[in-house]
Amino acid sequence: MDIVAAITREKSAPFSVETIQLDKPRNDEVRVKIVATGMCHTDLVVRDQYYPVPLPSVLGHEGAGIVESVGADVTKVKPGDHVVLTYKSCGKCHGCYEGEPGYCDSFFSENLGGTRADGSLTLSCNGEPIHGNFFQQSSFANYALAHETNVVKVPKEAPLELLGPLGCGIQTGAGAVMNSLQPRAGSSIVVFGAGSVGLSAVMAARAVGCSIIIAVDLKASRRDAAMELGATHVIDPQESNTVELIQTLTGGGANYSLETTALPSVFREAVDCLALRGVCGLVGAPALGTEVSFDMNNILFGRTVRGIIEGDSVPDIFIPRLLELYMQGRFPFDKLTRFYDLKDINQAAKDSESGVVIKPILRMPH
Ligand code: ZN
Repeated sequence: MDIVAAITREKSAPFSVETIQLDKPRNDEVRVKIVATGMCHTDLVVRDQYYPVPLPSVLGHEGAGIVESVGADVTKVKPGDHVVLTYKSCGKCHGCYEGEPGYCDSFFSENLGGTRADGSLTLSCNGEPIHGNFFQQSSFANYALAHETNVVKVPKEAPLELLGPLGCGIQTGAGAVMNSLQPRAGSSIVVFGAGSVGLSAVMAARAVGCSIIIAVDLKASRRDAAMELGATHVIDPQESNTVELIQTLTGGGANYSLETTALPSVFREAVDCLALRGVCGLVGAPALGTEVSFDMNNILFGRTVRGIIEGDSVPDIFIPRLLELYMQGRFPFDKLTRFYDLKDINQAAKDSESGVVIKPILRMPH
């Protein structure tokens, strides 16, 4: 069928909104009429080819929409269901069997391969092959093909056009706190980087009862957003010695920290600011080959450093939980968002990169 999609044709090129063709759903696939899709930092680093996703390609991996048709083997959803699209896992490896699909052995090929598992393409432009299947959705488009395993059904009373970011950036930040670090009520946490992932972590830390929630960011607007969303303190790293100030504010060091910036020097601060036995989570995704140095003694004294993918989320369980907290007013992620029409996708990217907007959401034309 003909669809409207934003194509990334070359490294760092502007998105090009064009009419292209989408394949019919196969037996295990779900075709979704996309209502709106969040834009994530990952879309932009892939556009810029820090990860070698094949081009030309349709990106977009925070889609939300309405199931339009399903393949013969699909039983989880039916046409008319409202769904959030998320990452895909294989369901058949150790990580998947143990209930940790973010650590699927096939995470890269399932989500960044650009094709179906059998190598076939789902998109074309008047005969020209276009790579799709980005996070098994390529949802910078008004229709997308997903799989039974990466669609999460959501209640029809929830505001669908807002929900796409729950499928990646927001579950990453909130899940890192609620699933991975699991801070005790009354404990302290420091979040480095107050973008959409970091601010989701701040909201989650508030929801689970952390008593000291410190956000560190260079940008005043993001520090203000952090205070509005539940931070108890903010730090401008240009104004103070971040580690010393955290030690003062927490009475000797933080129980937990979360690194979202992908900068080695910030990662080091996120470890150095911890109390003895503190835990640092890493979610920032640097370019392949990026190295960092630590004083080994700082880790020796009971501290833990752990990497976290997709907030250790099992999306079918965690996304409805976040949505319930949102509906109760306890996880106000709508405050991060600004809506754009798909045709303005390059402006949305610019505003995201400059920090004017924390989480752009693209409304799809129908
Ligand atoms: Zn797997």
